[in-house]
Amino acid sequence: MPYKDKHPSADQAETAGSRYTAYTLKNFRDLPQVQRLTEEQIAAIEVVGQVFPFKTNNYVVNKLIDWKKVPHDPIFILNFPQKGMLKPHHYKKIADLMDKKADAKTIAKEAMRIRWELNPHPAGQQQNVPVCNGVRLKGSQHKYRETILFFPSQGQTCHAYCTFCFRWPQFVGMNEIKFASHEVDLLVEYIRQHPEITDLLFTGGDPLIMSAKVLAKYIRPVLEADLGHLRTIRIGTKALAYWPYRFVTDDDATELLTLFSDITAAGKHMAIMAHFNHPVELAPDMVHEAIRKIQKTGAQIRTQSPVLGHINDRPEIWARMLQRQVELGCIPYYMFIARNTGAHHYFGVPLERAWQIFRKAYRSVSGLARTIRGPSMSAWPGKIQVLGVSEIMGEKIFVLRMLQARNPSWVNRPFFARYDKDAAWITDLKPASGEPQFFFEATQPKNADNATLI
Ligand SMILES: *Cc1c(COP(=O)(O)O)cnc(C)c1O
Ligand code: SF4
Repeated sequence: MPYKDKHPSADQAETAGSRYTAYTLKNFRDLPQVQRLTEEQIAAIEVVGQVFPFKTNNYVVNKLIDWKKVPHDPIFILNFPQKGMLKPHHYKKIADLMDKKADAKTIAKEAMRIRWELNPHPAGQQQNVPVCNGVRLKGSQHKYRETILFFPSQGQTCHAYCTFCFRWPQFVGMNEIKFASHEVDLLVEYIRQHPEITDLLFTGGDPLIMSAKVLAKYIRPVLEADLGHLRTIRIGTKALAYWPYRFVTDDDATELLTLFSDITAAGKHMAIMAHFNHPVELAPDMVHEAIRKIQKTGAQIRTQSPVLGHINDRPEIWARMLQRQVELGCIPYYMFIARNTGAHHYFGVPLERAWQIFRKAYRSVSGLARTIRGPSMSAWPGKIQVLGVSEIMGEKIFVLRMLQARNPSWVNRPFFARYDKDAAWITDLKPASGEPQFFFEATQPKNADNATLI
């Protein structure tokens, strides 16, 4: 039978207003596109999928992945587990068990053992949890003076899982943290008592996995509380890339957009912090339509992504992505450096190369796209930007600064680290000129970087 590029149900789905279908380890073999993969490629998905979360959906499969380019297609790599994501000895352990037809329990146990070797940012170490009238506000984080993060309990999954995601432990049930924030009253009270907070950022998972009704239960009380100092509500989401129908044809799309309009009508800034990893995600008409609908509510869309091996580690890709974002009226915001967790050996990009990718992309786009800042590490002290590699008095160094810091006086203060071509995170760096420690380390708890939630 000749290969068809479209899922047989795709056309049907489109006319039906696009029903969401998730594909996981359980049903991905049903996809006609998967018939194109070799048995070895399918086996790799099944082996690696025992350890890392795997979920994609009909939109990603039919509209974003170019199956002619598989296995090198960036969106395929973004959603489907890849052999290289496990170190060879880990891969072999699971593959051998599966070959031997070991029972599910034995495989699950081995998978869990491997996960613990992958720096899973374990639970129980949640930091910066705010306290209000003696009660801990579970599912929130107040690390930077102006902004409080809120993790609604129903928003802790996504329309698809990014293979590189640092939140992978939570998607495989390792994370015992109760993100559980039903306590919106407590959140409102906390913000009321903290006049320095200007921004409330809803994050996840993906908060837009929630229905408009559930999201409104969090947002409306905040609006009704009439908190004058709270100026901005942000929602971090990948829905524009993974399920743009969310804003166009989903049953409650209009209700969701009305909620955005009501935020802007209340005189607040409504900001969508949109996660895009590759220009391909900006191509479908449905994304353009979704962006227009969001913009009509008065909301602004800002964009961010980590720089990732095998997905977007070339300056041309970034330049194209930034240019398209500007044309679509989105504002480039952050380029992140991937954290050292999970399959970091596969996706991670060393600091120097990340900076090279950044500067080459930056210099090839106009000033309108240069609102992007990075490459930046979200580490214990703050968001640390790699400004570049330089030399002082014969010593090769990294020039760094904090874009955001837990101590506001640290922001925008340049500092220097000894050059290290392999360094991939702040914890790999030593201060320049033989200084014993970085200025922020005096107050840093031991092993702090394994404990950050964000
Ligand atoms: C990035 C981040 C914010 C938002 O910082 P901005 O620089 O204002 O975008 C807030 N809280 C945490 C924990 C963050 O990592
Ligand atoms: S959408 Fe965001 S939270 Fe969800 S898997 Fe991707 S990076 Fe992680």
